[in-house]
Amino acid sequence: MIDHSEIQGRLEKFQAAAKAAGVKLTHQRLEIFREVAASQEHPDAEAVFRTVKTRLPTVSLDTVYRTLWLLHDLGLVATLGPRRGSVRFDANLDPHHHYVCVRCGLARDFTSAELDALDIPAAVNSFGSIVAAHVEVRGVCRDCAARSAAAEPAAASPPEQEARRET
Ligand SMILES: [Zn+2]
Ligand SMILES: [Zn+2]
Repeated sequence: MIDHSEIQGRLEKFQAAAKAAGVKLTHQRLEIFREVAASQEHPDAEAVFRTVKTRLPTVSLDTVYRTLWLLHDLGLVATLGPRRGSVRFDANLDPHHHYVCVRCGLARDFTSAELDALDIPAAVNSFGSIVAAHVEVRGVCRDCAARSAAAEPAAASPPEQEARRET
């Protein structure tokens, strides 16, 4: 769970950034941001749309898409995943790393002072400048493991580690 003061802080940041950029704070935009700010699911646009629609029946998927990319342009959400396909949005802008389930796509944040101080190989500089680095730990989450254990006893594959450069 994301605690209430963290969500409140994200909303205040959103209001300040929108005001500074001259972006109109419509009820729809506020609700869409609130949904991302209160979620630890790293939702994609369709997932945000499904939840927001229960509160705002007139909202369209197109509005959700445009609002999420607006939030991205304002620097209020980060994205993960490939550009094409299902881009996912993350309102946690503090340095953190991800656990991603290779079966269901569950994504969770974790922090690590050691990983924040990761020693990036000098060879990376030949690709370009470094803005940030985060580690994506992949594995099979508990729910998926329990589901396959119920179906057939199989050995879980070891988690892979991969450091990715963010742009
Ligand atoms: Zn899973
Ligand atoms: Zn995250």
